[in-house]
Amino acid sequence: MPAHRPTAVHVESPRSDPLLAVRGLRVSYGGVDAVKGIDLEVGQGEAVGLLGANGAGKTSTLRAISRLAATSGTIDFCGRPLVKASADSVARQGLVHVPEGRRLFSSLSAEENLRTGAVARGRRPEVFTLDEVYDLFPALVALQDRPAWALSGGEQQMVAIGRGLLAAPRLLLLDEPSLGLAPVVVTAVYRAVASIVDRVSVILVEQNAALALEVCDRAYVLAAGRITLAGRPEELGDREALMASYVAPPATDPARPAERPGR
Ligand code: ATP
Repeated sequence: MPAHRPTAVHVESPRSDPLLAVRGLRVSYGGVDAVKGIDLEVGQGEAVGLLGANGAGKTSTLRAISRLAATSGTIDFCGRPLVKASADSVARQGLVHVPEGRRLFSSLSAEENLRTGAVARGRRPEVFTLDEVYDLFPALVALQDRPAWALSGGEQQMVAIGRGLLAAPRLLLLDEPSLGLAPVVVTAVYRAVASIVDRVSVILVEQNAALALEVCDRAYVLAAGRITLAGRPEELGDREALMASYVAPPATDPARPAERPGR
């Protein structure tokens, strides 16, 4: 099979009504399409990976779902349409985005940054308490009074994830939590991610497919704004097919994706 023709894997739909159902999602920047009409679903309690190379459209997809990027297509969250909702309102509904680059308040302490997460929680019940966040990231206990600007990249990543957890996510969008971190820190962050996916539904964007497939129930691969492969980790374990799926299909090839994932 040529490298640009990865096999799309049949994926069972999530058994219950999906928590998130995205259809025909498009994101364009000044007429350039970054995401070209993708479908994806997340079931209740599922951890779903979004994999792909640099520039594949992963971040744009997350930003569209959390209403930080203009989009066309439909996005239903808990059965309600989101496409016209504001970013603030989707966060208050429990769709919580932990962005690439962490975006902390640099002059606030680690704990003050964590506590800002509770603003988006509003009156919804807690999913993680502050103590549980410290249990997930014990390195933060001694750093709670340190300003965010003085934290390492890994510590900032832990605070950013913890802040998201204190927003009581029904669906947590995690954008490249391993990006730029030393291997030992990646291990600590992913140990926490493995616990988080046991308690909350997650979309995990990750360039490191091996890491993501260890913690996800299913994954989609994006290449040049289209889904080229989807399946459960055991189905995506074929390294050759996975690598081939990272290569954008030729513009003239109409057969992308060959089969609609999630059906
Ligand atoms: P990375 O891992 O590098 O973040 P990605 O898979 O998340 O990659 P996106 O960041 O979504 O990909 O980018 C998809 C495409 O859209 C790329 O070609 C990128 O250059 C382009 N793009 C992203 N953001 C913008 C923007 N604000 N303005 C113009 N083009 C953009």
